[in-house]
Amino acid sequence: CTSVILCKSVLVTGSSRGIGLQLVKELAERSDRPARIIATARDPDVKDAKKKKKQNKKNQNVIMVLEDVNSQESISSAVQEVQSIVGSEGLSCLINNAAINISTDLNTVTPDAMMTTFQVNSVSPLFAFLPLLQTSASQSTGMGLHRAAVINISSILGSIQANWGETAAFKAYAYRTSKAALNMLTRCLAVDLGPKGIVCMSLHPGWVKTDMGGPLAELTVEESVSGMLSVLSTLSEDDNGGFKDYRGHTLPW
Ligand code: NDP
Repeated sequence: CTSVILCKSVLVTGSSRGIGLQLVKELAERSDRPARIIATARDPDVKDAKKKKKQNKKNQNVIMVLEDVNSQESISSAVQEVQSIVGSEGLSCLINNAAINISTDLNTVTPDAMMTTFQVNSVSPLFAFLPLLQTSASQSTGMGLHRAAVINISSILGSIQANWGETAAFKAYAYRTSKAALNMLTRCLAVDLGPKGIVCMSLHPGWVKTDMGGPLAELTVEESVSGMLSVLSTLSEDDNGGFKDYRGHTLPW
């Protein structure tokens, strides 16, 4: 990988498996790795993982923090813990990756499925860590990963424009609407935080072989994540309020 990641700290939510886990692994293995890689996960086994990581040199600079993004209480305590880890430097890059996809078509969708999916996929990114990004942004100039960035892992399935014709076949009311809402959150944050030096963008990882993407997906987690890290390495002012895929192609809203 020829891209360079110039970033003091990265936090990835939902890093217990799939794309989140691969993001953490790949960041930790880079020679230009951020000084602090914070991996959050809701599984209490994360505490055991803390012990395990001591035996694993490659993951030595990965700090694990417990965070269930379906609980505001858990989010708030994770924010406090991360605050004490990053201190006065703040957080340079927040990757909102944790998500659920409850399979719901018109006949099976329930208010509960909608609300839970919204909390996890669209609401939680708004109520965590943003003050820590502002601390980081206030300490440098320019725009990009070196200063501060919010990366919302979205999906082409959240594109209103693309939900027509062939791609409309994938019916998932809760998931698709939650990702459309996340995309709007990206734009709202870009308007408010862009002028403060924080780049906010939505990033689609492609269709990836994970528990969520399934075995028929087009990409391995390695392919998706190395593509996304290349996109992040060139992050600039032009990306603020943008929606791109793992190849850096701009997607329709
Ligand atoms: P997976 O289902 O494989 O992993 C989801 C991750 O989110 C897990 O680590 C899971 O943790 C975590 N998570 C779910 N709910 C919570 C919660 N309440 N609190 C904390 N963590 C939680 O999904 P992927 O890795 O495939 O997806 C990652 C991101 O990429 C998501 O935002 C997804 O929408 C997006 N995406 C994926 C695509 C694909 O093809 N795979 C396509 C387009 C977008 P736990 O192990 O505890 O359940």
